[in-house]
Amino acid sequence: MKDPIYLQRYLKVMKDELPSQFLISRSIHVDFRIGSDMCDLWKLHNEAMKSFREEFHRITSMDDLHPRSWPSLLDLKVAIADKILQSCHFCERRCGINRKMKEKGYCQMDDISRYSAQFCHYGEEPELVPSHTIFFTGCNFSCVYCQNWQISTAPKSGTPILPEDLAGKITLQRAYGSRNVNFVTPTPHTHTILKILDMLKINVPVVWNSNMYYSSEVARLLDGVVDVYLGDLRYGNDDCAWKYSDVKNYWPIVTRNFKSAYNSGEILLRLLVLPDHEACCTVPIIEWTKENIPKVRFNLMFQYSPHYRAYEFPEINRALTQEECMKAVNILKKSGLEDV
Ligand code: SF4
Repeated sequence: MKDPIYLQRYLKVMKDELPSQFLISRSIHVDFRIGSDMCDLWKLHNEAMKSFREEFHRITSMDDLHPRSWPSLLDLKVAIADKILQSCHFCERRCGINRKMKEKGYCQMDDISRYSAQFCHYGEEPELVPSHTIFFTGCNFSCVYCQNWQISTAPKSGTPILPEDLAGKITLQRAYGSRNVNFVTPTPHTHTILKILDMLKINVPVVWNSNMYYSSEVARLLDGVVDVYLGDLRYGNDDCAWKYSDVKNYWPIVTRNFKSAYNSGEILLRLLVLPDHEACCTVPIIEWTKENIPKVRFNLMFQYSPHYRAYEFPEINRALTQEECMKAVNILKKSGLEDV
């Protein structure tokens, strides 16, 4: 396989030549009290992120990594996520409910995260496979064509996660040859994922496989943790997102998050081409990417097929035509975006 132009740091982490971002965060000492208010915790976080950036640029090999600190910047991120959970704003739906008290917001999830499956996946992009993929149950979107609707609409299904248990499974898969750990639909589970990473005793690239609709607070927590944002940019406007995924303000939120991801990690951007959505979605997405975050690994995807409730929407109740696929490829080629 040809090495990609982008994802260069990821490849070094994958080969254990550089530490994952979460290990650097874990090496930075931060004194904090769990009972402190959110404002104080964020102030400490801002200060500690300055140290993170210095370390990030200083470290050129695994040998440069300082030992784990107690408590660390990663512990602070865990504590902040735990507080966010109590008035949930992990995603921009901002339900504000206390998931620790079993209150339910849009995604219907409480504080216990569950997964439906975890295994070494060979169906992701070539740079990622074999990818230890962990499929969480539930979702903060309601895509009418969802191919995983049995999982995404059943947050209470699946295996409850004990962070130390999943950390053990990640360690095992890494020993068996996984190139990364790939958290799918991760946003509502931010608190659990940070705890898992805090318990890991190995180096492994962290892949955040997401619809990118997380809150600005979560974006700050992910900075210093996530190596690769495997992000969907699905809709080129708010109307399509509202119609097919039941989300508001999609475009400003998701593009904001792609911009912050661009500054804090590497991006593998997925554009799933939808039938009859060239002018409203494919074109604006490619144009925006070219203009704002050009150095990303771009994956134009043609595997759309109508599932779940797609039959209620005649315009998307079919597979793509060959002509639609070719048009999308030509639009991308013309844009000059590389590494397709
Ligand atoms: S993750 Fe999003 S949808 Fe779920 S409760 Fe929190 S804010 Fe609401």
